[in-house]
Amino acid sequence: MEIILGKYGELALKGLNKNAFESALIKTIKKRLSRFGDFRVYSSQSTVYVEPQNESCDIDSAYDEFKRIFGLIAVGKAAICEKNLDAISRCAVSYLGSELENAKTFKVKSKRADKKFPMTSMELSAEVGAYILDNYPHLKVDVEEPELEVICEVRDSVAVVHASQERGAGGIPNGTGGRVACMLSGGIDSPVAAWMMARRGCEIVGVHFMSPPYTGEGALYKVERLAGKVARWSNRFPIYEVPFTDCQVMIRDNAPEDLFTILMRRSMLRITQMIAEKEECGAVVTGESLGQVASQTLKAIQCTDDVAHMPVFRPLIGNDKIEITEIARRIDTFDISIEPYEDCCTIFTPKHPRTRPALDLVIKAEEEMPALKELEKAAFEASIFKMFRFDDEVSL
Ligand code: ATP
Ligand code: MG
Repeated sequence: MEIILGKYGELALKGLNKNAFESALIKTIKKRLSRFGDFRVYSSQSTVYVEPQNESCDIDSAYDEFKRIFGLIAVGKAAICEKNLDAISRCAVSYLGSELENAKTFKVKSKRADKKFPMTSMELSAEVGAYILDNYPHLKVDVEEPELEVICEVRDSVAVVHASQERGAGGIPNGTGGRVACMLSGGIDSPVAAWMMARRGCEIVGVHFMSPPYTGEGALYKVERLAGKVARWSNRFPIYEVPFTDCQVMIRDNAPEDLFTILMRRSMLRITQMIAEKEECGAVVTGESLGQVASQTLKAIQCTDDVAHMPVFRPLIGNDKIEITEIARRIDTFDISIEPYEDCCTIFTPKHPRTRPALDLVIKAEEEMPALKELEKAAFEASIFKMFRFDDEVSL
């Protein structure tokens, strides 16, 4: 029988919290795989087992989904068989037949969780290896760098046979890390930042600023598809769409042009914190990376965070664009992110934004616009809530 296996990552180290983490993981797996059939999901010895219960299970789609589940460092498909040499040898040859056929070199690696098994790991590997060589005489054993590794695990109740596993989603299970409000633009960085926080177990709530009529339906639809992509990993990604035009116009018409960007970022952060409070989030998350643009210098970040009354996480602060792009490709947001739509941050941008804004001047400019706070409250109240889920059938 073919099953799916996943190895815990950090979860294995979590000590007393391990049970809570384990049950969050199992719950997510059950929820996410249920649409592909009836699977039995259980864990034992830091491994999760997913066993199809009948013929109608779609194991390939389930496996594809499984690769997006946080908390697992390695994943793979495997065959289970009885715990004896004969069954294990036959299982290896039949289950890994095409891989064995295509490889030139291989080695067998065995692990015994059941120490009562009558052979040592070395003996088991040697015997299974000999049986494989009988069946595939073109193969050679290479213990250093084999093309194919055949892994035989003798567990408590069954034996499991598989080839090398793939990288899993990593991180810790959904819903174990608290809630955070993620400022989500349509760019490359912020979906990656949201995904990184979700991978640390956080429930993510998105906040997107739009500036109609300067930003259009296309820009909004882009953000919604990005949210759908991230939700495929995080289970869900609710988004607040905030109408931000009035605040931006107020700043444009009343403040020095070179402070426009920093004033706008402070305004966005104040509104995001209103949503964070309503949603009981403990922190704000942005996709900023130090020095990338004028608003992301150390000085500009200090000026922005002056209005923060909760932690502001910037998971990408030390990453280069190339690294961020690699993750964007891995999580499948990249192609959407590079679609050319206006972001509200790119309208009314000054020709020469200040890279080292002076906080006293920024505060003074805000004091001269007392009505801005009212507009921010109105924007918060007028924001539109939309929910995106892992199983939404949107045309991505
Ligand atoms: P990104 O690739 O995420 O758009 P960026 O490199 O374009 O980032 P900025 O435009 O300066 O940089 O934005 C910095 C961060 O501010 C973004 O990562 C995001 O968290 C937030 N942000 C920018 N625009 C918006 C928006 N329209 N709605 C919500 N958050 C935004
Ligand atoms: Mg951007």
